[in-house]
Amino acid sequence: MLRTHTCGELRISHVTIPVTLCGWVQRSRKMGGMTFIDLRDRYGITQLVFNEEINAALCEQANKLGREYVIQVRGTVNERSNKNANLPTGEIEIIVSELKVLNSALTPPFTMEDNTDGGEDLRMKYRYLDLRRSNVRANLELRHKITIEVRSYLDKLGFLEVETPVLIGSTPEGARDFVVPSRMNHGQFYALPQSPQLFKQLLMVSGFDRYFQIVKCFRDEDLRADRQPEFTQIDCEMSFVEQEDIISIFEGMTKHLFKSILGIEITDPFVRMTWQDAMTYYGSDKPDLRFGMKFVELADYMKGYGFQAFDEAVYIGGICVEGAAYYTRKQIDALTEFVKRPQIGAKGMVYARVENDGSVKSSVDKFYSQEVWQEIKKAFGANVGDLMLILSGNNVMKTRKQLCELRIEVANQLGLRDKNTFVCLWVTDFPLFERDEELQRLTAVHHPFTSPQPEDIHLLDNHPEAVRANAYDMVINGVEVGGGSIRIHDSELQNKMFELLGFTPERAQEQFGFLMNAFKYGAPPHGGLAYGLDRWVSLFAGLDSIRDCIAFPKNNSGRDVMIDAPSFIEASQLEELGLTVNVKDK
Ligand code: ASP
Repeated sequence: MLRTHTCGELRISHVTIPVTLCGWVQRSRKMGGMTFIDLRDRYGITQLVFNEEINAALCEQANKLGREYVIQVRGTVNERSNKNANLPTGEIEIIVSELKVLNSALTPPFTMEDNTDGGEDLRMKYRYLDLRRSNVRANLELRHKITIEVRSYLDKLGFLEVETPVLIGSTPEGARDFVVPSRMNHGQFYALPQSPQLFKQLLMVSGFDRYFQIVKCFRDEDLRADRQPEFTQIDCEMSFVEQEDIISIFEGMTKHLFKSILGIEITDPFVRMTWQDAMTYYGSDKPDLRFGMKFVELADYMKGYGFQAFDEAVYIGGICVEGAAYYTRKQIDALTEFVKRPQIGAKGMVYARVENDGSVKSSVDKFYSQEVWQEIKKAFGANVGDLMLILSGNNVMKTRKQLCELRIEVANQLGLRDKNTFVCLWVTDFPLFERDEELQRLTAVHHPFTSPQPEDIHLLDNHPEAVRANAYDMVINGVEVGGGSIRIHDSELQNKMFELLGFTPERAQEQFGFLMNAFKYGAPPHGGLAYGLDRWVSLFAGLDSIRDCIAFPKNNSGRDVMIDAPSFIEASQLEELGLTVNVKDK
């Protein structure tokens, strides 16, 4: 080994011992005849000291070191007179007796500090340097710890980690596939898995009744802060289980992660909410329950008083913001502008304050008497000092989504989305189908392998949109951190599902014949779920984007700016693949 210790490990107890350290020059300071260097490695920072009076040549050598040079030093551990309480090694320093430059370095394009001067693009281009920063490194360490805890929890319960292939055919999970051309079969393509869904179900047919895999999945979707084209799932499947079994095992895993990683003991069972209630009361299938502001429906209270917007509305709903009556006109105007943004699309917002005497003062007092307001106040459960915000619209779902945005915006403004508070929720009873207006057909809300609830099966033919699925999502603080379902294990029901989703029998056979066949050879009842590992890490690290917990992420356009991918390929490669490329605009 080129070193005896790391840069994070020496303490006062090591004083007087000889050591050899290796690392990067983070910073150097010259003070009088002394030179101080912060030597950094993955484990921390240790201060090196060079004294001109004791060894002028060595000191001169130290003064020539540039930032990020890689060096090896020998020396003795010394107690610092000027201790640094912010540094674990802050009580000691190394009096250096020998210095060797292991490698020089160009001046880095940004500083390797927690608060770097490098912008996102630059940091991504030089991601290998960005990863030297301790906060980015800490995210990867956290990621590692989470995967270790996941493996240990699942292993103890008899889950077996099995790898499934990456070059496969399409697995419909609702996104576009990334495809890979086949050299040996011109004109044919592999698809990269959107998830190992079909393989894990086949493993159940094979009898591996508890499977998991920490696995890369690929989806060609528009990117957002919580989405990457390739991401990692903790993918799980079990046989001979019902929804409650899955919920109990994975609620247990979640509690285990909170305890082992964050030291937080969650003793209560998670909140449960049906999809319908989540939509009705929060306008979202992943409500953030760290704060209230549950929707109140007001059509019965507010229609028929001559206020046109409301009289014509199909849906009128509002939230009560506790203690926010102090909001100024300016703040309220800003909220109105917020909901009117094209991305949100509300026409306007009505507000009402509960005054000190209990009376209500609103922006539509012309239309509503105090009596009506008192009823509305009761419906909200509003008290003195509260602010009621009301939206209306012609489309129930759309208006609820607008109200959902407003609820979150207000919570952000009031600081109600504290990153250290966690509320875990199961959303259950998702619908099996939704209608895709563009495609003019039904699509699966979860995926085509999700089973309908037995008591709704009779609705499949005539009211498919009313059929509820045996599907569940785990939601923490408004983030969908996992989801799954009890699967269909009967080839006839699976066929029926494909038919309802608009597959011809031939296409269903072509694409999923292997699965339907497998189901004929003794498929056990089974179900499972997948957690999004990247989302877990960013949740635990309090990050705003999953990019920050991925070693080499893609940017918002799906590019890896460091290796400059995707890129064009050689004509000879295209020829081998039997492909011609017809790019319209470069
Ligand atoms: N394959 C599903 C997904 O990727 C998870 C599951 O149903 O287990 O969302």
